[in-house]
Amino acid sequence: MRMELDHLDGLLASGVLLITFGFIRCLAHWVRAAPATPDPWAEEIEVLMQDPATPPTCLRCSITQSPGAWFCPHCGTAVGPYNNLMPYVNAFSIGEVFRSSILDRVRPGLMMWLGCVLLALHYWIVTPFYLFRVARHFRHLRLADGAPVTEVSSPS
Ligand SMILES: [Zn+2]
Repeated sequence: MRMELDHLDGLLASGVLLITFGFIRCLAHWVRAAPATPDPWAEEIEVLMQDPATPPTCLRCSITQSPGAWFCPHCGTAVGPYNNLMPYVNAFSIGEVFRSSILDRVRPGLMMWLGCVLLALHYWIVTPFYLFRVARHFRHLRLADGAPVTEVSSPS
């Protein structure tokens, strides 16, 4: 009886292994067969982006930037091409990331949380204060997005 159970376990493990291998093989075939498109945008936008005469724009608010600008005068986002390579300007860029994660309207998902935690761990002295502010801000964002809020109904 014991020998039959061991044989059954071996068969079950082999079946699971075979199904997993087949799934991975089908997934790899599906990825390889997918059409490869280098850019998700239209051809005319690609032409505009490659044209050196096209003025740079802010990634957040799409306002045209002056050449050589480091930060958007409208929203404060870092727009300079080498902001993160210059030590002095890099400090302002990181400050802008800290500021936007606790004040701006962001999508409070898992990746945002992971980024905030990694950023906070790098600047360990502010970690508890920063993560507290992030948690509070994300909670407010979720409530503002229509999450169920418990209301106390008054008798009428
Ligand atoms: Zn902007």
